[in-house]
Amino acid sequence: MTDTLFTNVRVLDGTGTNPYTGSVLVQGNRIRQVGRSTAPISPSGATVIDGAGATLMPGMCEAHTHFSWNDAASLAGIQAMPLEEHVLWCAKVAKRYLEAGFTSCVGAACAKPRLDVVIRNAINAGQIPGPRYLAASQEITVLGALGDETLPHLPFPEFSFGVNINGPEEMRKAVRMFLKYGVDSVKLNLSGDNFTPQSPAETTWMADDEVAAAMREVKIRGKRGIAHARSSESVKQALRHGIDLIYHASFVDNEALDMLEAAKDRIFVAPGIAILYALLNESEAFGVTRDMAIELGYQIEWDAALESLSKMHKRGIRVLPGGDYGFAFTPHCQNARDLEFFVKYLGFTPMEAIRSTTLYGGQIMMRAHELGVVKEGFLADLMLVDGDPLANLAILRDPKRILAVMKDGVFAKAPAIASQRAWGRAA
Ligand SMILES: [Zn+2]
Repeated sequence: MTDTLFTNVRVLDGTGTNPYTGSVLVQGNRIRQVGRSTAPISPSGATVIDGAGATLMPGMCEAHTHFSWNDAASLAGIQAMPLEEHVLWCAKVAKRYLEAGFTSCVGAACAKPRLDVVIRNAINAGQIPGPRYLAASQEITVLGALGDETLPHLPFPEFSFGVNINGPEEMRKAVRMFLKYGVDSVKLNLSGDNFTPQSPAETTWMADDEVAAAMREVKIRGKRGIAHARSSESVKQALRHGIDLIYHASFVDNEALDMLEAAKDRIFVAPGIAILYALLNESEAFGVTRDMAIELGYQIEWDAALESLSKMHKRGIRVLPGGDYGFAFTPHCQNARDLEFFVKYLGFTPMEAIRSTTLYGGQIMMRAHELGVVKEGFLADLMLVDGDPLANLAILRDPKRILAVMKDGVFAKAPAIASQRAWGRAA
């Protein structure tokens, strides 16, 4: 491992502080020194990367990741991929996320029982490149709800997308199975989803005794419960049972907002609004016309989600980007588009949007003390960006503008050698 000194960079440190010109020295896997331009750092043997004014910022965090979503347009299409191909797919996608600047990803469910765990372990062992990763379970659901893809003529649950449970005993068994496999998070589908018309978004399916049985096991092992919760009732159910990572939260009444605010120091919301947008506006080529999306309830949900999430942001509840990329209509590695949506639709400033994927990213990864900020002593997860993301967030999803990505002190995407002296800056 060689040390690296970034000079002449615009440091956007991830905390919300205004950027400044400076230098950053990485020794081993840590940021050793952060200097303003007035006090240059001595390279002392480090490889010097002259950023020529490019932005150096923390690597981004994707808070709602599904490596195993395989660009299909349906849950059944994802599930149809045979296991062996699916493992290879996930490995390839993990590498792509890292190179796109996502140095941390929070797994939000996988399509087969051990996909996430195996990929996380392979990344950690250095077998394959990939982000820091928190591995999730499959979606645990109840018969007839989101994730139950069992066809009527097939036995269950082997052929389902999620694991179908009935009652606390079956829940306990499913959760213990995933904990045995070594997941970091157990995913519960509390609400329905407009994607599955038999169980729409505003319906709430899981029984309290089932959620309680799951969370008892999760807490005993010191793991995290995470929830698919689009309905207001499901958001409240998640909060009542100690789930601290809520996906979607499209519909929230005042009581749910108050409960979220009261728990804001432990709660994260990762809505994944890109898929709502895409289904309404960009999915005709994949067989979903705007009229069909409206008929499925997506206009109502889009309107509700913008209102709910804007209110959460105003109340200081941490809303993080990412979510449900990996469908045909939401391709992998465009995830940073959420930052633009946060500004355009949820009332974030560009700086707040960046902070949601950097500072909050370190927090949701449960490593707030060492991840998500360009700061001395912190882990060297960094990206070098051609241009100013605060002026144009779209450059964060343009591979040509991501000049370099470093994870744990090592380049995952190395700066081009020829360009090390002076980056050609596009406008
Ligand atoms: Zn999801």
